[in-house]
Amino acid sequence: MPSSVMPMPEQSGGHTPPAAVSAAGLRKSYGDKTVLDGIDLHIPAGSVFALLGPNGAGKTTAVKILSTLIRADGGQARVAGHDVAAAPDGVRAAIGVTGQFSAVDGLITGEENMLLMADLHHLSRDEGRRVAAELLERFDLTEAAKKPASTYSGGMKRRLDIAMTLVGNPRIIFLDEPTTGLDPRSRHNMWRIIRGLVADGVTVFLTTQYLEEADQLADRIAVLNDGKIAAEGSAEELKRLVPGGHVRLRFTDPSAYQSAAHALDEVTRDDEALALQLPSDGSQRELRSILDWLDAAGIEADELTVHTPDLDDVFFALTSGSGRSDQKGAALR
Ligand code: ADP
Repeated sequence: MPSSVMPMPEQSGGHTPPAAVSAAGLRKSYGDKTVLDGIDLHIPAGSVFALLGPNGAGKTTAVKILSTLIRADGGQARVAGHDVAAAPDGVRAAIGVTGQFSAVDGLITGEENMLLMADLHHLSRDEGRRVAAELLERFDLTEAAKKPASTYSGGMKRRLDIAMTLVGNPRIIFLDEPTTGLDPRSRHNMWRIIRGLVADGVTVFLTTQYLEEADQLADRIAVLNDGKIAAEGSAEELKRLVPGGHVRLRFTDPSAYQSAAHALDEVTRDDEALALQLPSDGSQRELRSILDWLDAAGIEADELTVHTPDLDDVFFALTSGSGRSDQKGAALR
């Protein structure tokens, strides 16, 4: 997997991996609402890219522009080497799109959905059947193949959607919020499927509201906020953008909490949770000094947790800067 984060500078005689998707200054407004306010992208072939942002940030709009479903108001984008505005057919031939505007028809069976896709891609009858059977098997849908897709669970429908997309053997796949609304087991199953696509050399453009999902899957993550990309890099690099970790002390006794809060400098209070946060690198030496100090002051915390920065911290630092969810991997709201 590529570990580079910034677009590689052109080197004379060097070899820059071809971009599967690139965009410069993409803009899109609906009425007087600016949804995308100049988006630049560079996604190397064979990598997983996550566009991360809360509901309504403009993720689907970006996917629709890049997959030629709608046109941008400004800027340029190339997908699989084709300009999205000038050569939409070339783009469409190279990509697969799954997501909120899913192609699954609930009235017909999973198998019929697959065969329909095979027809659309002009596969012969035998070849269509072979490919459909193979993909249904790969996505664990063989048993359900003869049932109407409307009877499928959310996870099964998404698997069918991806299987249908793969009939055309796309080199670039757009997955628009592939796990929104799925239970944890189906979410993990979907992650496994996405990793499998990448292992086959497919470039994956993923949108997600889940920090954990981006952290788990993506080589590079771009945080979309207010129509702009607020930061971009690997998960590790984004985590390095925010200040170091902290130690959190939680109390059940309000008076113990108050005396600890008064005695400590450089502490952030959470009066509702009776919790205090101290900046800390999490080293043994720092932890020992905190424990020694608590002992000396005769204060007993009910819980001590060490916190290293995660993508939640990055997101909240980059966006509102106020308040953060304490639940790791929580959806952005
Ligand atoms: P996301 O996928 O990040 O949830 P979307 O791209 O779907 O965000 O939407 C971004 C914003 O654009 C939202 O405020 C949405 O209401 C608005 N929007 C999207 N499509 C249309 C449309 N066809 N007409 C008007 N507004 C739209």
